[in-house]
Amino acid sequence: MNLTSIPGNEKCADCCEPDPKYSAYNLGILICENCAAIHKTLGPHISKVKSLNLENWDDNTLNSLRSLGNTKVNSKYEENVPLFYKRPLPSDPQVVKEQWIRAKYERKEFFGDKKLSYAAGYKEGYLWKKGKDDKHFQKRRFILDTTENTLKYFRKEEDRDPKGCLRLDGINMMILPKKIGHPNAMQILYEQNEQTRNLFIYADDGQELIEWYTAVRAAKLNRLKIAYPNVDVVNLSTKIMWEYIKEGWLSKTGPRSGDAFRRRWVTLDSKKLTYYEDPFCPYPKGEVFIGSQGFEVEKKLINSGASNSKEVKDPNMAFIVKVPERCFQFLAETVEDADDWVEKIRTVIISN
Ligand SMILES: [Zn+2]
Repeated sequence: MNLTSIPGNEKCADCCEPDPKYSAYNLGILICENCAAIHKTLGPHISKVKSLNLENWDDNTLNSLRSLGNTKVNSKYEENVPLFYKRPLPSDPQVVKEQWIRAKYERKEFFGDKKLSYAAGYKEGYLWKKGKDDKHFQKRRFILDTTENTLKYFRKEEDRDPKGCLRLDGINMMILPKKIGHPNAMQILYEQNEQTRNLFIYADDGQELIEWYTAVRAAKLNRLKIAYPNVDVVNLSTKIMWEYIKEGWLSKTGPRSGDAFRRRWVTLDSKKLTYYEDPFCPYPKGEVFIGSQGFEVEKKLINSGASNSKEVKDPNMAFIVKVPERCFQFLAETVEDADDWVEKIRTVIISN
């Protein structure tokens, strides 16, 4: 029997990437190349990794692999994964995959009835937070308290009054190492005085980052359960956090000829386009909510900008977003990027 026909073996046991080419053979699973590299860092006392194609396999090992497989092994190592825990996808950052693999096989967090610190409803510790008006990160004390529904941070250890106090149920967190330039970094979004506010944070190590992230997810799922008692919890657990569908640089102008193009960092989520002066601004410059009635997106150049502004190199880099009573002209930096923005914005319009 072929190893890939064993239940669950059609995708990586850890991140679900299709067609895994490696085996952690002492565990009895097939994994993708990237997860195999993480497994190797666990050491052979936890995981022994070999390529399926390149190495010799003895009959004993093959027989044991045939008797196990991803579904069977995961039913043990993932027996008690809490619903609020984020399972990695192939596209997720390395820290998400690595900590999932360490939680599963090294710390064995999900089998037996381990007490999970991030499910306790209270967490205290240090995180590095980017200054509001400068690019430096400062060490800040953070306290998460589910009973108070707050995440607070303090400038100094001895401070009694927090510098910031966020409502837990209004927080969204995104793990974005590439954007922020640190392997254990995340962006926190919340509403403050009816305005979106962003915090940029990193943790000293990956486990610490994932524990903060997971503690907030646990608290948010609890609030959702109270707010929507009749909705299935599995369904609620898919709505704990959201991710950007796309973000990047675009030039933007209004519909009037003579309006200059301005370069903006633009984010797209399932409800709106948000634009910033740069990727790390605490507050957005503006937001364009996307509905369905009267909303359109198309590749088009209706305004090539003021004579002194950025030159439109190729009209195929241009697209417009029409909202009721307004129209925005955007200019991407490549034709492919313009196509991608149009396709993704269209998906949001259709789903709203
Ligand atoms: Zn994988």
